[in-house]
Amino acid sequence: MAMVGFTTRILHSDREDAIEHGSLHKPVHGSVAYGYEDARDLAGVFQGTHKGYSYGRQVNPTVSALEKQVNEMERGLDTVCFSTGMGAIGTMLFALLRRGDHFVSSSFLFGNTNSLFNSFAAHGVDVTFVDATDAKHVAEAVRPETRLVFVETIANPRTQVADLEGTAEVCEQHGLIYVVDNTMTTPYLYQPIDSKADLVIHSLTKYIGGHGNVLGGSITDTGRYDWQSFTNIYDTYQKGDAAKWGITQIRKKGLRDFGATLDAEAANRIALGAETLALRVTKQCENAQRLCDYLDAHPDCKAVYYPGLRDHPEYDRAKQLFRYPGGIFSFELNEGIDIFEFMNSLRVVIKSSNLGDTRTLAIPVAHTIYYEMGPERRASMGIDESLIRISTGIEDVDDLLADFDNAFEATT
Ligand SMILES: *Cc1c(COP(=O)(O)O)cnc(C)c1O
Repeated sequence: MAMVGFTTRILHSDREDAIEHGSLHKPVHGSVAYGYEDARDLAGVFQGTHKGYSYGRQVNPTVSALEKQVNEMERGLDTVCFSTGMGAIGTMLFALLRRGDHFVSSSFLFGNTNSLFNSFAAHGVDVTFVDATDAKHVAEAVRPETRLVFVETIANPRTQVADLEGTAEVCEQHGLIYVVDNTMTTPYLYQPIDSKADLVIHSLTKYIGGHGNVLGGSITDTGRYDWQSFTNIYDTYQKGDAAKWGITQIRKKGLRDFGATLDAEAANRIALGAETLALRVTKQCENAQRLCDYLDAHPDCKAVYYPGLRDHPEYDRAKQLFRYPGGIFSFELNEGIDIFEFMNSLRVVIKSSNLGDTRTLAIPVAHTIYYEMGPERRASMGIDESLIRISTGIEDVDDLLADFDNAFEATT
């Protein structure tokens, strides 16, 4: 039976294991602990010699099913899920880096990730931010104590596309762990293993959960990195298959000790959302392209940022690497149009901060997610005061186009 297509695999991959009572969807397991007839089996579970579940902070059958699903999507070696995307990123750094270590990150980052990285600096793990749209900037920032490099595929709100393949070369050359946050592209548009990424991060909250009703995060080890050459693996985890050392330390040292555990109810909701990932994202990208083509030609629109537009600096890169250029874009209004009045004239589009929902969402960037940094820093990052970020949903595109038309008419 052929199960080669993306969606077929996501829907049917878990049938390799018997699902309880023939249930088509993995049941939600609420139990925190698991009992064993033979105490030796209980001991074996803790020692890794007997297959079974120990304690809900580290492992749960419903969460394990989602981990397999995400792993299947990213063609990974193994995947660990977390309570949020931030939980995944924070745990990754906590588990793999130590005082005195250094890492390089793209400066075009999700705002809270940027804030988290600065917090780590206060704990003795230093970070250098670079413009990662060109890997030469990454190479220039590498030091003897550098351990990893972190980039996002498409950055929000300005949609810069990282030099994903060039950065892989730099990491390979210096033996660095190459971490790619694939939230914006999703495994349907792009699988970072194809650009030699070692760890793939997701905020499952966004496209994979896909309905704005649940938080979650994940880390996938693609199986490429040579953990035997990594100095920070604890002796306890230097056992068995070396390919698994890193993800084991992330699960044990990271998830177990830090406790950013995904709840079974949340995992169930994310797994259900994940089944329609390809359908939703296809429509979201189609809507984004149509809206950007419309805005790009509109006389009252000053600029549009979308990797699917020919004048985008990374248009060719996005075309080469991604199935479609994503469902996120941003645009600036002409001088004289009040951004709030414009946004308030939108009737279908919802004024909200999230991304990857089925509904189209808009946010005034400078006044919300970039407010804290102030006008000078915003200007240096190319964030115009009139910049609006859009996360396209799955609405019928004509309704969205009419909504923007009405808003322009009402405010110009
Ligand atoms: C939202 C987001 C995160 C954080 O995920 P949460 O689930 O909100 O904690 C990390 N990276 C990117 C690119 C995101 O968009």
